[in-house]
Amino acid sequence: MLAGFLRKNKLLSLVATIYIVLLITLPGKAIEAVQNSMYYVMEMLMIMPVVFILTSIIEGWIPKKAIISGFGEGSGIKGNILAFLLGSFSAGPIYAAFPVCKMLLAKGAGIANVVIVLSTWAVVKVPMLANEAKFLGPKFMATRWALTTVSIFIMAYIVAKQVKRKDMPMVEETAETGKGVRIAAECCAGCGVCAKLSPMIFTMSDGKARVILETPNPKQKQKAQATAERCPAKAIQVD
Ligand code: SF4
Repeated sequence: MLAGFLRKNKLLSLVATIYIVLLITLPGKAIEAVQNSMYYVMEMLMIMPVVFILTSIIEGWIPKKAIISGFGEGSGIKGNILAFLLGSFSAGPIYAAFPVCKMLLAKGAGIANVVIVLSTWAVVKVPMLANEAKFLGPKFMATRWALTTVSIFIMAYIVAKQVKRKDMPMVEETAETGKGVRIAAECCAGCGVCAKLSPMIFTMSDGKARVILETPNPKQKQKAQATAERCPAKAIQVD
């Protein structure tokens, strides 16, 4: 059981091991490290509930169609500008952006637009620009903003060329309309039942199920529905 937990939480296990080694070899540094970590944990405990509420509101109240039309792959320059505005008028540290971006991707946002949201949130959001202008001067802030903005759009274009939606570890879908077979990756327990029952539709990768058949015919769809009923985590959706 412990081995299973450690396997599933490799990063956490590595950090815990480093702390233990540090505690044995340099106890003073270990205490300092724990204190610093606690500072960030407290900060996250204050910020993350608000982020989760915001994410739930978007998830529950904003229809998938609206996200696809606003931020989807086909939204073009309008989607890029919306993403830029969303990131620019955000607040809070960058780690708060990850659950929001994950939810946007799961609801159909394009990869390029998610890169734009994340990057603007990190380096050109308005509250930060105000502080930057105050401490480093408006000319510095404006020049950096302009150059960074150009870089963000170039980076978004390159990432969207390199990374496809099927490479992302969240809800998979067969089309932007959300129709087809999907897996809520965050719910998948990695039992492999789906891949065994329907190997032409599902496969296992890195301990999670993935959809490999993008356009199931009616018979395959029936098979997928039957498989979804057998999924112990109820992670498979067939529309
Ligand atoms: S059956 Fe469900 S829980 Fe098991 S691997 Fe497939 S999707 Fe994941």
